Amino acid sequence: MTARVLIVDDVATNVRLLEAKLQHEYYTVISATSGEEAIMRAIEENPDVILLDVMMPGLDGFETCRRLKEDPKTHHIPVVMVTALDQKSDRIRGLSVGADDFLSKPIDDTLLLARVRSLAKYKSIADELRSREAVGRRIGVIDEMQQGENGLGARVIILEDDAKRGERLKRILNEEQRALLMEESNQLGPDGHSSVELLIVSASGKTFDGLRLAAHIRSQFNTRSLPILAIVDAEDRTRSIRALEIGVNDIINRPLDEDELKLRVRTLVRRKRYIENLRLSVDATMEKAVTDQLTGLHNRRYMETQLKALLERTKRGGAPVSVIIADIDHFKRVNDLFGHDAGDEVIRQFSERLASNFRPRDLACRFGGEEFVVIMPDTSAEDAYIIAERLRVAVSGDPFHIGSNKDPLEVTVSVGVAIGNRADDDTDVVIKRADQALYAAKQRGRNRVIANVA
Ligand code: GH3
Ligand code: MG
Ligand code: MG
Repeated sequence: MTARVLIVDDVATNVRLLEAKLQHEYYTVISATSGEEAIMRAIEENPDVILLDVMMPGLDGFETCRRLKEDPKTHHIPVVMVTALDQKSDRIRGLSVGADDFLSKPIDDTLLLARVRSLAKYKSIADELRSREAVGRRIGVIDEMQQGENGLGARVIILEDDAKRGERLKRILNEEQRALLMEESNQLGPDGHSSVELLIVSASGKTFDGLRLAAHIRSQFNTRSLPILAIVDAEDRTRSIRALEIGVNDIINRPLDEDELKLRVRTLVRRKRYIENLRLSVDATMEKAVTDQLTGLHNRRYMETQLKALLERTKRGGAPVSVIIADIDHFKRVNDLFGHDAGDEVIRQFSERLASNFRPRDLACRFGGEEFVVIMPDTSAEDAYIIAERLRVAVSGDPFHIGSNKDPLEVTVSVGVAIGNRADDDTDVVIKRADQALYAAKQRGRNRVIANVA
């Protein structure tokens, strides 16, 4: 996987050094020599990872990071701070302003690349969801929610074979999260697994291979997005790299620093929740795009794309597809006599009868107003006629009850049937044929089914 990396350093040689390493691995590199420029380029270029020098004149790395993480346009871009010395105070300060990780100079190439790869993966998921979400034009809402997201109160599971270490981890985490040891996770109950937001695993276990187990548990918990934080001994560089390769989302070194642990956990939880909210929003947007709001049936646009695909299949020798159009008779009278709300209620109840009259494979849609289309794959015209007739009887045979104190309402429907089975049939042609049949049904007195299958 390739990615675009923004390198920020006020010293040109440092930029060139990192640039050479990354370009060698086929990453695309952009650079900036100040915090101000970094922010500008981040907005303009939406890089996948930012490598940010801490010590810079003007806006230093901390302040630059804080601003990047505050801006909805850039807050999803992972930031790795590059420090001259590996100092605890710098790490805590960096994490507090939202940095995703640290590297200290001189930079370990393999670790750098493993890091960039891991963070770029997160970024590409976020980008994909953000762009789909943006179609629904509600990205603003999600990003506002994100501003208030503190990454606290998450259900965390700890995987540690050393009992004393496990208890200590749990104690630290429970100052702001809801942590359980793996062996206590049966307390979660049957649905509990889905509430877990983070897995912390000790990669230096004596009785198990923590990383292997973590990878396994992630699949077991049935959430591909469950983040994992691995605890690795500071000097165990090989294992850190291995962990990132396996797909661990973050690493913290032992000896553990309590504040660092808490801050890293917060960042991981925030990221997880961000992705999750984007997913929910995308799902809702997609659902909305294909659904008619009043009836919950599919909408016209969705029906047309599906019919088009089915007709293509028919052309390639597949089974015929039948189409019916149903239009409520004299519907204007319902509105005129009982009001628009009563009219809406008739449309809703009609939809229920319609939906219950068809197989799950059939596609019932509101075509507009009081007109409905049902697409029936693999259905002959004769069968379609019988089904349409059954619908007609289901409507006229049983009056509608609207509101509490009104008399039952007689409703009838006229239906046109057509079939798509010719080489040149496209959506419009087939719908038009069904519409002609419907028109004929209206002409001949309504409350009847006519098929146009010549
Ligand atoms: P016909 O038997 O020829 O179909 O007569 P009709 O009155 O049903 O047909 P027409 O197309 O003349 O009128 C349809 C009416 O349906 C007009 C419109 O105001 C009403 N209508 C369309 N959509 C809605 C809706 O969502 N809710 C309500 N309450 N009325 C609607
Ligand atoms: Mg009508
Ligand atoms: Mg009409």
